[in-house]
Amino acid sequence: MNTKLLSEKDIAAAAAILRAGGLLGIPTETVYGLGADGLNSDAVRRIFLAKGRPQDNPLILHIPEAAWLERFCRNIPPAAYALAERFWPGPLTMVLRRRENVPNAVTCGLDTVGVRCPDHPVTLAILRAAGVPVAAPSGNRSGRPSPTRASHMLEDMAGRIDAIVDGGPCGVGVESTIVDLTAPIPRLLRPGGLPLERLEEVLGEIAVDKAVLSPLSPGEKPRAPGMKYRHYAPKAPVTVVAGDALRTARYIRKNRGEYTGVICFDEYAGQFPGCAVEAIGPAGDKAAQARRVFEALRAFDGTDVTAIFAQCPGDAGLGLAVANRLKKAAGFQIVDLGEGEP
Ligand code: AMP
Ligand code: MG
Repeated sequence: MNTKLLSEKDIAAAAAILRAGGLLGIPTETVYGLGADGLNSDAVRRIFLAKGRPQDNPLILHIPEAAWLERFCRNIPPAAYALAERFWPGPLTMVLRRRENVPNAVTCGLDTVGVRCPDHPVTLAILRAAGVPVAAPSGNRSGRPSPTRASHMLEDMAGRIDAIVDGGPCGVGVESTIVDLTAPIPRLLRPGGLPLERLEEVLGEIAVDKAVLSPLSPGEKPRAPGMKYRHYAPKAPVTVVAGDALRTARYIRKNRGEYTGVICFDEYAGQFPGCAVEAIGPAGDKAAQARRVFEALRAFDGTDVTAIFAQCPGDAGLGLAVANRLKKAAGFQIVDLGEGEP
């Protein structure tokens, strides 16, 4: 299969691919997605094949407006409408009870479905033109860092899907925040582009799933299927070095080897001579770090580095999502040096 690169103007062609049961790379504000008609089970199954995605890891249904919620979900709590009103279109996925018309291929047999309205004009136009909800996970091969540019998606998916719509680099850069609204207390299943603090303003108390902060112990059952898989990993092993940035920079300098990659804050980029360095933004600018983190993880794959160290932001705001992606890329291999003056 020859994977076509479409432009922002090719809305009709993109929608036609979806309606014909094809696979389409779509730009969103979070990361690029691999979309198919979410009501067509065969098309949805091909997403799993193209990605090499485990069969029990469900997909998010993308819709152009909150008014579509009723078509695919039931027992929708008022909180869902309050969140949609405030944060859609945007980087928030809500897990709700599903209706029977949502194929098992999307939900992997769960009686819930994750739904989101993405904030990208091109993809919103494609969704409206196609007239169907689009099931889409991130557009990477399973286990790899998520794509934040069309070129990343082409690296992973060339020859495996019908087309990719180039909508430019993603503005947010990490996936959506996922909140489960089917439990008595809303539960954060994945930190993402919408900070937890913003959700709390609307929902009050939110339970943070344990898997967000630490690895599952062997035999432990995850709340959301996606949580149990290794994720976002570049080819070389990653160690996250958490804590005060001066301290972490010094630790990385001391422990670096001959072919070492370093993911660091801009202020420290000059401090690792002999290393391959990816600066992801100023230490205080978590939005910049979110935009760059996946690209930085991908960048080492073309090099001969055999180990990667990463400085890591604290958990406030978007830091929770950036730190989560780095820690998952590291398989939770973390050196924590603590906060405060070194
Ligand atoms: P993705 O963003 O790459 O790769 O995948 C979508 C994410 O949404 C995965 O982590 C899924 O586990 C999660 N997800 C989708 N639907 C549900 C659901 N019904 N319940 C819990 N998590 C879900
Ligand atoms: Mg993914």
